[in-house]
Order: sequence, then structure tokens, then C-alpha cells
Amino acid sequence: PATLPEMLRAHVDARPDVEAVVELGGERLTYAQLWERASRVAGGLRAAGVRHGDRVAVRYPAGTDWALAFWGTVLAGGVAVAVNTRSAEPEVEFVLGDAGVKVDLSALTPLPEGDPYVADELEPSHVAALFYTSGTTGRPKGVPTTHRAFLTNSENLIRCLGIPGDVGPDLRTLISVPLFHVTACNAQFMVAAYLGGTSVIMPALDLPRLTEALPGERISFMVTVPAVYSLLLRHPAFAGADVSGVRWAAYGGAPIAPSLVRALQAAFPQTRLVNGYGMTETASLITVMPHEDAVEHADSVGYAAPSVDIGVVPVGDDPHVGELVVRGVTVTTGYWNRPEATEETIVDGWLHTGDIVRVDDAGRVHIVDRSKDIINRGGENISSVEVEAVLLSAPGVSDAAVLAVPDDVMGEKVGAVLFTDRDRIDVDAVIAHCRDHLADFKIPQYATVVAEALPRNAGGKLLKNRLREQVRWGAP
Ligand code: ATP
Ligand code: MG
Repeated sequence: PATLPEMLRAHVDARPDVEAVVELGGERLTYAQLWERASRVAGGLRAAGVRHGDRVAVRYPAGTDWALAFWGTVLAGGVAVAVNTRSAEPEVEFVLGDAGVKVDLSALTPLPEGDPYVADELEPSHVAALFYTSGTTGRPKGVPTTHRAFLTNSENLIRCLGIPGDVGPDLRTLISVPLFHVTACNAQFMVAAYLGGTSVIMPALDLPRLTEALPGERISFMVTVPAVYSLLLRHPAFAGADVSGVRWAAYGGAPIAPSLVRALQAAFPQTRLVNGYGMTETASLITVMPHEDAVEHADSVGYAAPSVDIGVVPVGDDPHVGELVVRGVTVTTGYWNRPEATEETIVDGWLHTGDIVRVDDAGRVHIVDRSKDIINRGGENISSVEVEAVLLSAPGVSDAAVLAVPDDVMGEKVGAVLFTDRDRIDVDAVIAHCRDHLADFKIPQYATVVAEALPRNAGGKLLKNRLREQVRWGAP
């Protein structure tokens, strides 16, 4: 297929009765029903004045309404704006204004339905959706995503995971993270639609329900963020769960501790685990660590996806360490309405990821840190990600974040924020564990135990900006 409607239409013709979208505890739509209803939503949007390229806000909770609003917008020839429904009201207002939406499809408004309509002018280079970055490092930026980017990203994922192209209805993916981010929308929802499989959507994260759905909904493909896998493995309802049908499970969106990868493989012994690294600007996938090496090289995000070129812009003397840059058809050509950000980020056709990586002798990419989170202690660069991975394997630690603590002499020192949902944390034991696993200069000199779970966004990312404001460091 060359466009998203073509892709969907092919399944409607070939296997109309296969389930396309299922809302757990809600509606179930076959491909024929999805097409019929979405083309009516498209007709309703046309009647409301939506024309080619017009933006339509999609801000239903995750479920079949979300899917109908998304596909209705695409069939109308519009641009679906995936709005973060968990944002505070001013942030939602910002996104609606920034995107310049013509119609706002929100939970407060019923889906408009009119005479069936399917746009016939669409081309691969046309924009189908606008996603907003997580806003971890600043204000969220709108990222236009083309039909071609969606399709090529799906092909990348299918090849990197080793999913057979003829898997069809046996590809059933459980969506447990928000659809307004690329992890769920592009790496699951779109991949299922590409293969003619099923998206099973959880309206809200519910771990006992997720556990039941694995066999109950015959889930074969899971994707979620490290934070969710970590909670799942520790949840009593998951003990003894039937995971035998899960053939592929991917994690990404944030760094994963190697100790968690090992625990995951033990909990999903027959599943092909893969680490996927990507970003909103690249329609998701940049690199993938294939299953064969996922456990042994759990500290690496692997190799470039088929359609993606990667490069490293050195930051110091070592040519193998630097900022990762990417280009290819899945990479956006620029941010929505943000010419300066575009100019800063895309230089000579290469998109600068803001992630510092090391490429090893075998060509594997290791994410050292986000460039803004690297700690510079008296000239030594310290990766917060590396220290966090060690802290997460320390006794009693459920979650950890490492921040720079300003210091008059050293410039910055290493500070650890620790959280436990189990017993108590013995900070001395944690530091002793760090001594066993880290070079001297990387050992946290400040540590604080917090009573509440660390702030993470809906995509499982640590909100370090917020933590920096919250945490008060005592004397070292
Ligand atoms: P903003 O750009 O607005 O500050 P953001 O970069 O957090 O927000 P996203 O596009 O959702 O928004 O996230 C992409 C980032 O997530 C990557 O640049 C990388 O830092 C991190 N990331 C994604 N996947 C992985 C992974 N598998 N391992 C480590 N980090 C990852
Ligand atoms: Mg980013």
C-alpha cells in the first residue's frame, strides 16, 4: 500500500470479519465495521468543513472511539492531531492552538457521522498525523508524520522483530500505553493495521486485567515501556500468568535496566524480546536490539532499522562517542510551526536526536544519556542512565533517578533519588552496591529517599525537570 486508506481497504476486502480494534471491556470492531464507521466519521468531518490537510484533534481516551476518530480524520484527508489527554488543561489548550485544529473531537463531543466519505487525493508524502513530543526537555513540539513514514516504520518494525508478513489475524497486540504517543500508535496500532491483525486497547493501565488479557485476548505481540514491565513483574496478579501465547515483546521509550531485561526473559521464557529505540520525530523506530542478543547485550539498543541511516557527531576525542544523528523517510522534515527548532535540530538533512551514544566494535549502539542529563563532575562525564541501571539492581530499590547536584568545586556532583514500594531502603547498602559496580567518581555523593513514586509521564519517561525542582539535597 502507498497510503493508510489503501492499507486499511486491502484488509477490508480480504478479511472483513477479522477484528481490527477491540476495546477491553468495550466495543469490538471488525475491519468491515471499522471501515464503515470511520468513513461515516470522515463524512461528518467533511460536513463540518474539514478539507485536505486540515487538523482534527483526536482526544478520546484510548479505545474504539479513538480509533474511529483517527481513521475518520485520515479518510477525510485531514491530519489527526494526537492530543495528550493526560496533560493539564493549559497544555491541551496550547496544543489545540498550536495545531490550529478545525474540529476538536473530544470525549465531550459525540463522533460526527455523515454520508460515507473516503479521500481519493492522498499521496505517500502527505501528512496523516501530528504527534507532540513528550516535552521532557522543553515545550512539546508538533511532529508531522506522513503516510509513507507510518508505512515504512511498520515495515521496519515487522522486519526487525522477525514477524512473518503473513501472520494476519494471529497478530494481536495489547496496547497499554497511551495512543497519543508513537510507541502505541506507530509501533502497535499501525503495525496491527499493516498486517491485518488486531489492536486490543486498554482504556487505562490495569495490571491484573493486562495479565488476564494475555491469554484471554490471545495476545501475541506486546509493547510497553520499562516502567510498566517493572510494575507488571512485581504485581502479585502476574505470578503464574499464562504468557505462552506472547511471541514478541518489545520495550522502549526510556532506558531499561539490564537487570529488568533478565527478569523479563525469565518471566516470558518463550517470547522474543527486543529493545526498540526511537523518538516522535522518527515515527518511532531508529534502532533495534534483535532478540538473539537482547539479554546478553541488554545495555545496547542495537542496530539501525532498515530504512534509517545513523551517524555519530563526536562530542570529545573519541570518534565513537557523540550525539546520534538520523535520516531517512521515517524522519520528519521539520517541526510544526517551529522554524527555529527545526533549523537547530535538522542540519544538512540529519536530525540531531539529543541522545549521546557510544557505538561499540560490533556496531551496536549504546545510549549513554540524553545530552541534557549528562553530569559533568570536574571534567568527567557521567551517564545518569548508567548509574540509574546500577541503582535499580540494588537491594530494595524500585525506582531511581540520577541528577546533577551543583557544586562549587566540582561543578556538578552525582545525586541519587530513590523510591521503594516494597520494604525500606538501606542507603548505605545501596551505596555499597554502587561501589561494587561503578568507578569511584560515578558513585552518588548525595542520596535521598522519596516517599512518592518518581514523576514519570504517560510514556514512562522520568520527568527530571520536575524532580530537579522537588528534590532538596542534604549535606553529603
Ligand atoms: P522532548 O523532545 O519534547 O523533550 P522526548 O524526547 O522525551 O521529549 P519522545 O520523542 O517521546 O519525547 O522521546 C524520545 C526519547 O526517548 C529519545 O530521544 C530517547 O532519549 C528516549 N528513548 C526512546 N526509546 C529508548 C530506548 N529504547 N532506550 C533508551 N532511551 C530511549
Ligand atoms: Mg526529544
